[in-house]
Amino acid sequence: MISEKWIDDELAQLREKGLERRISVFDKAGGKIEIGGKTFLNFSSNDYLGLSHHPEVISASRRYLENYGCGATASRLVTGTLSPYVELEEALAAFKGYPAALVFGSGFLANAGIIASLVGRSDHIFADKLVHASMIDGAALSRATLKRFRHNDPEHLESLLKQSPASGRKLVMTESVFSMDGDVAPLPEIVSVAAAHGAMIMVDEAHSTGVFGPGGSGVIRRYGLEDRVNVSMGTLSKALGGYGGFIACSHALRKFLINRARAFIYTTGLPPAVIGGAIGALSVIQREGNPGEELLRRAANFRKRLQEAGLDVLDSQSQIIPVLIGENQRTLAVAERLKSRGILAAAIRPPTVPEGTARLRLSLTLDHSEQDLAWAAAEIAGACR
Ligand SMILES: *Cc1c(COP(=O)(O)O)cnc(C)c1O
Repeated sequence: MISEKWIDDELAQLREKGLERRISVFDKAGGKIEIGGKTFLNFSSNDYLGLSHHPEVISASRRYLENYGCGATASRLVTGTLSPYVELEEALAAFKGYPAALVFGSGFLANAGIIASLVGRSDHIFADKLVHASMIDGAALSRATLKRFRHNDPEHLESLLKQSPASGRKLVMTESVFSMDGDVAPLPEIVSVAAAHGAMIMVDEAHSTGVFGPGGSGVIRRYGLEDRVNVSMGTLSKALGGYGGFIACSHALRKFLINRARAFIYTTGLPPAVIGGAIGALSVIQREGNPGEELLRRAANFRKRLQEAGLDVLDSQSQIIPVLIGENQRTLAVAERLKSRGILAAAIRPPTVPEGTARLRLSLTLDHSEQDLAWAAAEIAGACR
């Protein structure tokens, strides 16, 4: 075997800069977990509605496992599309208010597959400055020209669209609720600008699905933009508590992606237990009406407590709440202090966020009671002082 010294060198460099990442191991997932006999509030879980451990979701998942077996055993286009897929895609289309839906192996694969199918070498992509890495990788795979517009700034988007060549297809992409800042995109404005310049539009609703909009259907539906947004992307791995990605779209786009999206074609279908879990999660959300509303109410109270303690929560309007600290080492120290008090909060540092804006990122779930949150807000304020 040839020497791997260059790998050791690169790792040493990361370590020196305080940027080496390591995997931590947990015995359970969710918003409230036990480690070594001690209970922790976990503010790094995306299981917003607590569905990953909901008894009905688990029993649905188990039923599909027992009826259909452990794996899909083939790619979707061969014999991997078992009937639960049809059931789930119909439920997702109805949930999102679109004619059709298509499930992918993960949210990452959905973004990678869709973008590279919609645009190619002579086309143009316009993406919000803060969109998720999977959209940026999708753009790179597509080989289209990528322009970034200032975060949540439809005027800057418009000026970039005006400067772009008349030839080629155009695609505008954004998230609806942003994963690091927890703010919400001005979708009606972005959609009108995109439409005025003949651009397709794709919205990543990873963090809003299950939480925002009527019945948890997302921000596109909150604004009634289903007829104007071409691609409504979501994931089964956040509020739906399981795994997998999907899009809601027209019948034509679904057919096209089945033929073109390499990240859909050249991979095995998700296991039946995963599909069953997602079907179970959707049915719990539907029965409960709008569980996201309660989460957003608790998040608003929690934000207010932090602000009253003099903390900066940026423009957060969601269950994702950043607490700006600024300096890297201080942010790490605050996270450590909180951990010793039973609170797990991620210290987010550059390059994930701009230099000098290191922060705690707190994501709330329904596993956090009002009482838990009042206690946590006081602890966080104390640790930041
Ligand atoms: C998590 C996330 C994804 C990827 O979804 P997975 O199902 O975890 O692969 C895509 N976009 C955004 C904005 C995300 O936060």
